[in-house]
Amino acid sequence: MSFNLATILQESRRENPDKPLCHINDLEFSYAQVDEISGRVASALRGLGLEPGDRVAVQLPNLPQFLFTYFGILKAGLVMVPLNPLLKAPETAYHLTDSGARVFVTFEMFAEEAVRAVELAETGESVRTYVVNLPGNDERPEGTLHYDELYFAEDFGEPEPTGSDDTAVLLYTSGTTGRPKGAELTHFQMYMNCTVGGDLFGFRDDDIGLAVLPLFHIFGLSSVLNVAVRNGGTVVLVPRFETAAALEAMERHRCTILAGVPTMYQEILHSDTGGRDLSTLRVGVSGGASMPGEVMRAFEEKFPGMVILEGYGLSETCAGATFNINAEQRRVGSIGKPLWGVSVRVVDSDDQPLPPGPDQVGEIVVRGHNVMKGYWNRPEATAEAFRGGWFHTGDLGYTDEEGYLYVVDRKKDLVIRGGYNVYPREVEEVLYEHPEVTAAAVIGRPDARLGEEVVACVSLGPGAGATEEDLIAFCKERLAAYKYPREVRLLSELPVGPTGKILKKELRPLATGGSGA
Ligand code: AMP
Repeated sequence: MSFNLATILQESRRENPDKPLCHINDLEFSYAQVDEISGRVASALRGLGLEPGDRVAVQLPNLPQFLFTYFGILKAGLVMVPLNPLLKAPETAYHLTDSGARVFVTFEMFAEEAVRAVELAETGESVRTYVVNLPGNDERPEGTLHYDELYFAEDFGEPEPTGSDDTAVLLYTSGTTGRPKGAELTHFQMYMNCTVGGDLFGFRDDDIGLAVLPLFHIFGLSSVLNVAVRNGGTVVLVPRFETAAALEAMERHRCTILAGVPTMYQEILHSDTGGRDLSTLRVGVSGGASMPGEVMRAFEEKFPGMVILEGYGLSETCAGATFNINAEQRRVGSIGKPLWGVSVRVVDSDDQPLPPGPDQVGEIVVRGHNVMKGYWNRPEATAEAFRGGWFHTGDLGYTDEEGYLYVVDRKKDLVIRGGYNVYPREVEEVLYEHPEVTAAAVIGRPDARLGEEVVACVSLGPGAGATEEDLIAFCKERLAAYKYPREVRLLSELPVGPTGKILKKELRPLATGGSGA
């Protein structure tokens, strides 16, 4: 059997060809349409000389073209490299270079930045760049191609045969350390995660999921889009999270499932729903960061008939690793139990399993069908992450006597701002590019709305004149909007340990209120 999601799309199409697979505003695309258009994209890509296994980078918001391109890539046996559209040119260039992408599909709003990225990328040969335009606009930068060239090719027919262990998606994440690495997710893993995940929260073919989580992230891709396609359901595309737009889309399309990060639930909770009828909502899936119990309670009170189920996972675990399966069995504050076919343990620093108990905190490690093949071209990082045959998540947690898991902290150096991962090292590297910066450490400050805010602690060389505002502006120019620090604290020096490593622990109290030196 083929586990390729493009084959699953065809199976769902055979069952119900005219059923809408996606809605966006007043537009809809049926299963048959998405299957046909993605077939044309597949032919066009292969017509360029791409061979199975070649990478195609896709930097699109949640638009129908995301679906056409994604399924087209899978159908052609190619590898999808989803990229966050908010990345700046040097960041995108790094991803293009690292993945060796030969084709790049972007959106008109980001096309200038994309062209700069292609110029900066060191891919050996020029990356063909296609631009998706909104209806009524045909403008795109010189040297780029119109997405229509992919759209109006011949149908591809049956998907290219792919092995279950072939890579379907290369998903960039920093893992526990360093610069972003491509987690290689296979066809089998993608298939299993949406199959098991959909079963767990009881996804039905009449379900309509709100696709407001970005599809370039594993949570949106697997738990929203793949789950819907696997079960013959429908998604409602919202290109950018704005509370009013999400509420409007949920009411208009009578959404039954909402999947989001806690920040989204919090924003919806504190918004004026203006008498909208959201009574069709039945399940809310939360993940990406800890869901505060109070937000869960208040949300369910505001939207009676809805239950919020929290899960946990990473890009490397192809979305879900654990889940709270229903209202009766869930534990508020817990991330639930391992998914079917997945083993999760908590281990000490010698990789020995720890007994249950809140005082037995260790690293969460995972094994099972959902865990990635490895990091693309990074054998050492892969070996390090898979010590003893278990994937090391870098998250700290414990289990209780009944096997429920709890996340308490992160071992890795990560700030999660509004559901987006911000890797301090990446921001620090940019700060270090500033000629007057001598030391920089980026940390997270608790924030009621976003979960965490990015704060940079910086010291400058003698006679330097840069202000906090200058440094914020410097980062803003070079980093995606969700990453740059909103606050810079200038200190005469940063605290360091015996090895010269900056002691972030000592900086944290400063960032949460104390004054700078
Ligand atoms: P990503 O690879 O972008 O999916 O980020 C994965 C990280 O998100 C994990 O390593 C955790 O630190 C965090 N995370 C995901 N789900 C949860 C959750 N339910 N509770 C706490 N942290 C979570």
